[in-house]
Amino acid sequence: MDKSIESRVNHEVENWLRWITRWRPATHRGRARLCRQCFGSPIVASAGLAVDVPHVVQHALSMRMKIVIDASVDEYTELNLPVLAHELNLSERRESAQAYRPAEGLDPEFRGLDLDPQPAADAPYLFTFSELADQQPPELRPAPAQSPATSASEPDHEHTDALPPLSPEEKVALKAEMHLADEFATQVGLRVCAQLAQQRPRLLAAIAQHVEPQVQALLADLESTLDSPLWPRNP
Ligand SMILES: [Zn+2]
Repeated sequence: MDKSIESRVNHEVENWLRWITRWRPATHRGRARLCRQCFGSPIVASAGLAVDVPHVVQHALSMRMKIVIDASVDEYTELNLPVLAHELNLSERRESAQAYRPAEGLDPEFRGLDLDPQPAADAPYLFTFSELADQQPPELRPAPAQSPATSASEPDHEHTDALPPLSPEEKVALKAEMHLADEFATQVGLRVCAQLAQQRPRLLAAIAQHVEPQVQALLADLESTLDSPLWPRNP
């Protein structure tokens, strides 16, 4: 991992610091459910952004850190974990067989967020990007428990790319390598958190300069709306 979990974190912090200068509060309805990437995230906490920071702002940082971690784990896997690397390459090949992948190629701050805005009650969507993203191509690997009768039959066209099922030994090896990859990811995560803690003063300064005034302005707006004679507080 060495060249640089820390320098990659610093690089992504610089990207986030540039992004935050352009941040504006959303005018549409936000997401209704909690974000699994950010809620309770040690990364968001290490950065000092866990409290009183809009989710979109947290999300832009946590997704950038996820990119750092994923890239490091991918490199480690490619170098040290041949069975897992092979399986991942197969599944990547299967995914690239998908015709349209709306969740790919998004900027970090948009990844992992809802693909579609909330529909209006009287105007449901004909289709949504989430539906398109959920359409998976058929599995390339068949279920391992095949009877001799079916495996001897002619392969049908849909399964011409089918791969032989994993042997028990391969399954054990794969499980062991997945465990190593998990451990490695945890180590990288800890280093990311430590580096973010060092960067915390810069992150908080950016929040104070670019986010806080806009949040305060929104709150002030809201208050003046509530005070409006068109919407009396005590009708
Ligand atoms: Zn999030």
